[in-house]
Amino acid sequence: MRIGTGWDLHRLKEGRRLILGGVHIPFHLGEEAHSDGDVLIHAVIDAILGAAALGDIGTLFPPSDKQYKDISSLVLLEQSVNLLTESGYQIINLDATVILQIPKLKPYITSIRENLAAALSLESNRISVKAKTKEKVDATGKGKAVEALASVLIEEIDESLWV
Ligand code: MG
Repeated sequence: MRIGTGWDLHRLKEGRRLILGGVHIPFHLGEEAHSDGDVLIHAVIDAILGAAALGDIGTLFPPSDKQYKDISSLVLLEQSVNLLTESGYQIINLDATVILQIPKLKPYITSIRENLAAALSLESNRISVKAKTKEKVDATGKGKAVEALASVLIEEIDESLWV
């Protein structure tokens, strides 16, 4: 078994959509980014890549590369999982935290978990997504940014179990 961690932050600005775990959260601000800015998925990708020592999201999907402009981060997540599989690993579980002052994410957590479960080909009981505020402290607490943390446990694929 191996473990990986990921963290990401995006500024919030007007004229952008707030996308978390592939779910559009209705809000007047969204993530500033080259891609769709899905901060949660970016943290998950870094946790996956980190667990297998495969580099990081910025190296694999450089913002300077036009093919990633406004791309859905779910696509990048699926590509990262393919890379993990090719390296001989599979994910055991994911635990993630989104830090956002407003809006409240509780109504969206189930959809976010289902989206991540589908992208990772895992049961949603292996996917945990939690939401916190930053108690109005610092830039994220003042509503200027959104952050996410993720931990992923992986194990070597045992091909002898395949049917
Ligand atoms: Mg990012």
